[in-house]
Amino acid sequence: MTVNVPLMPQTQTLRHQDSLLIRRGDHTTQLTNRRLADYLQSLVAESAAGHLTLPTDEQEESLTNFLDFLERAGLTTQEDIDTVSSAARSLWALDPEASDLHELQERLRATRVAIVADSPLSQVLRTSLDETQVPVSIDHELSAVEEIFEDPAALPVVIGDHLRDRRLIRANDAAVRTGRRWMPVVESDGVRTLIGPWMVPSSSACLECVWLRRAANSPDPTLVDQLVEAESLETSPRRAVPAGHDHVVAGILSQKIVELIGLDDRASAAAPGRMCVISRGAPGLTVEEQHVLRVPRCPVCSPTRGRGNPQVWAHPAAQGGEKG
Ligand SMILES: [Zn+2]
Repeated sequence: MTVNVPLMPQTQTLRHQDSLLIRRGDHTTQLTNRRLADYLQSLVAESAAGHLTLPTDEQEESLTNFLDFLERAGLTTQEDIDTVSSAARSLWALDPEASDLHELQERLRATRVAIVADSPLSQVLRTSLDETQVPVSIDHELSAVEEIFEDPAALPVVIGDHLRDRRLIRANDAAVRTGRRWMPVVESDGVRTLIGPWMVPSSSACLECVWLRRAANSPDPTLVDQLVEAESLETSPRRAVPAGHDHVVAGILSQKIVELIGLDDRASAAAPGRMCVISRGAPGLTVEEQHVLRVPRCPVCSPTRGRGNPQVWAHPAAQGGEKG
């Protein structure tokens, strides 16, 4: 008779002379009894399909003690980890004591990521999320933006070509109106791709806040006032995206989505106001998390919009002197 015990993901076993070392993250457990170390080494060598197979012909008490030791050392687990996705296992393994693996997988299956996009990136994102068992819907129509914000079971993700993309602007308006959390994605402008931040109306920056802050950082201060107020004209250029870029974006995006759904507010990657910026240039590709703060009196999301003097974006001296 034998018993099969699942191996804990991301745990490493090493041999050093008479000892066997079990290493999980920075934590290492040492097994100094040479005979036990030899025995465990042979079990590990014969393990298959993520399981240790132990004979049950030993005394029940010593088998239980041995199994307890393996679990405490982080080599095995009693959880049934075969039926969940690799992404769910990875989230659970961050803190196995604090989270329930199957509840976590259920959350991933219960939330639909509702993407509105007119871009091949949406298909790459769907493929990436399919592996995690998170349901995905993709709409191409502009009118779908309002619909996804009305559906309480949907998590809205909207992909646009630039920060003034009408899909994104309509999504921002719908979010402010409904109070729903959502994520914008701005495709590569040749230099930068913006992922997020998760936007939570009334508590984190909205799309307009992001636009105002980025426009205000324009290298040419004489154009800041014009840029912040300008409206984008619709054009339809051919797509030009660096090789493999959609996979990089979809990978980061799906991690942020899965963390938010699985861990909710405990997810570090899911914090509102943190935007991932992928930049291309010297020294190659950089991925950076930037904080985006709300703009005081933002004309879209601030409850005090319209009060007081207009927001000043650049010192008048930098714009060619005082205006008369
Ligand atoms: Zn705002």
